[in-house]
Amino acid sequence: MTQATYAVYGASGCGRSIMPIARQMLITQGISLEQLYFIDDQPTQDKINGQVVVRYDDFLQIPADQRYVVIAIANSQIRAKLAAKLTEHDVHAWTIQSAQTLIMDQVELAEGAALSPFVTLTSNIKIGKHFHANLYSYVEHDCIIGDFVTFAPRVSCNGNVIIEDHAYIGTGAVIKQGTPEKPLIIGRGAVVGMGAVVTKSVPAGVTVVGNPARPFVK
Ligand code: UDP
Repeated sequence: MTQATYAVYGASGCGRSIMPIARQMLITQGISLEQLYFIDDQPTQDKINGQVVVRYDDFLQIPADQRYVVIAIANSQIRAKLAAKLTEHDVHAWTIQSAQTLIMDQVELAEGAALSPFVTLTSNIKIGKHFHANLYSYVEHDCIIGDFVTFAPRVSCNGNVIIEDHAYIGTGAVIKQGTPEKPLIIGRGAVVGMGAVVTKSVPAGVTVVGNPARPFVK
């Protein structure tokens, strides 16, 4: 009988942070850690932190009836490119969630998320594909988050906020709450710098920094 195989795609910083969560999930489900790999297309070592590293094409050759992969690369454009490749090869987008993650009420979370320890998602929240929420980040009530959105550690996303696809929110950023009538919107591909305090909507593609957050001018 063949079995399922599992992998964390990306064996650099992000991948090494996410691997222990993947391990914890498999142990909880009674699945052998020998079925868990790192995938990296430019491997630097055969094994990293005890886990075998394989190239993507080699991962596909490992006998398995199902394959599950979480893409652990912060760059959202790369995540999107690799996600399309997984779909093409019938590889499941694996959602990774720490035992210390808190998902509270009516949270709709699409496939392929990576939720680090102490992330909290409260109530009536909708989140798109391949979301990354790093350590201690939270999403408060009535938020809508698009596909391939990335939260660095300790992002505070308050209620009634909309974050569009491919936005990146830096470490420790605080996003002010909107209202049901007028949500605060972080536009597609916008970047919020670390420590920024976002009090107003951010247009698509714009980088904001500071307190209160303003467009970044080089
Ligand atoms: N990578 C890959 N396939 C790709 C793009 C990237 O395997 O198509 C790997 C790359 O070799 C590297 C990792 O993903 O090991 C990305 O590492 P980086 O330090 O750039 O990003 P982070 O881990 O901080 O997200």
